[in-house]
Amino acid sequence: MKRNLLLTPGPTQIPPEICAALGKPIIHHRTPQFQENLKEAIEGLKYVFQTKNDIYILTSSGTGGMEAAVSNLLSPGDKAITVEGGKFGERWTEICQSYGVVTKVIQVPWGKAVQASEIKKTLDADKNIKAVFITLAETSTGITTDVEAVAKVVNHTGAVLVVDAVSGLGVVDLKTDAWGVDVVVSASHKGLMLPPGLAFVSASEKALKLIETSKSPRYYFDLRKSREALADVDTPFTPAIGIVIALNESLRRVKQEGLENLFAYYAKLAQGTREAAKALGLSLFPDESCISNVLTAISLPAAIDGGKVMKIMRDTHGISVAGGQDTLKGKIIRIAHMGCVDEYDILTGISCLEKVLLKLGHKFTLGAGVAAAQKVFNS
Ligand code: PMP
Repeated sequence: MKRNLLLTPGPTQIPPEICAALGKPIIHHRTPQFQENLKEAIEGLKYVFQTKNDIYILTSSGTGGMEAAVSNLLSPGDKAITVEGGKFGERWTEICQSYGVVTKVIQVPWGKAVQASEIKKTLDADKNIKAVFITLAETSTGITTDVEAVAKVVNHTGAVLVVDAVSGLGVVDLKTDAWGVDVVVSASHKGLMLPPGLAFVSASEKALKLIETSKSPRYYFDLRKSREALADVDTPFTPAIGIVIALNESLRRVKQEGLENLFAYYAKLAQGTREAAKALGLSLFPDESCISNVLTAISLPAAIDGGKVMKIMRDTHGISVAGGQDTLKGKIIRIAHMGCVDEYDILTGISCLEKVLLKLGHKFTLGAGVAAAQKVFNS
């Protein structure tokens, strides 16, 4: 019987206690019981977001949260910086353009992170830029952006800083308040180990002012409605009740572990994965200076088709990793270490990768990847 191990960068594995919470009979959302759950969820999210700002829970995948950020902060004709160094940075541009926002796009080679100095240069050149959109962990390339450095630059201006933390939240550090990040967007199905269905958006005072004045069309994702409802511990529409209740199970786990411990834990899993790849004679796709602890993007030799590696791992051995997107299709595989994953999951994934690489003719010492990861995990 095949197992189904998810080492994908979302959705991630759901631990049994959270599965059990998801299986509870539904309750009605306009009840004191649900209000208690919602209140607890918001408080728990504030801990993970490291913020005292409002956090709105929306019923959508992460992209819905991104769209909500754009439509609520900006009006048609407003200017914004976006950073295109991967699929999800590009998504900010696409959403902005859909709302008539004029984008100043900073192009970054895939595998590299934007430098704060680049953002400063663009902001200095145009004082009318109202927002800067960046990506904490660019899932398509395996880099992490230095959000703190970017925030230092943006905080001196009238612009708001908006961070897509869909795949990075709870995995790598993001000090929303201490660094001065105005809006953080995340979702349920990555670090928080839940099914897709919830997006989260935090908003600072500076962001709230824009939310009140944006002229973009908005209805379902109108954060003014979310804000008003939140004041009464409520949501404007029927929330994904079951996922909100299970979210509390997830948030309790995160709190119990402690954020700092979790960041160190994922850093170790990431380091083990990286060492394993190197020991198999493979190189890491991202630049070392910005390599992410959220997921590891591994370049494959030209003779090996990444799509095939992924397919055999999944269909023959029941282990899912992600392939490359766009120009990286077939050239990389991505192994995630976020949410409910431990060193034995990583070792299983690496040993499966070895088996498949061997089958596809790659030359290396069998077991070298597993041994390298073990060495890190036992240090
Ligand atoms: N941003 C990042 C960094 C992501 O990894 C993802 C999902 N892979 C998204 C945005 C989009 O989220 P969703 O697919 O949930 O809409």
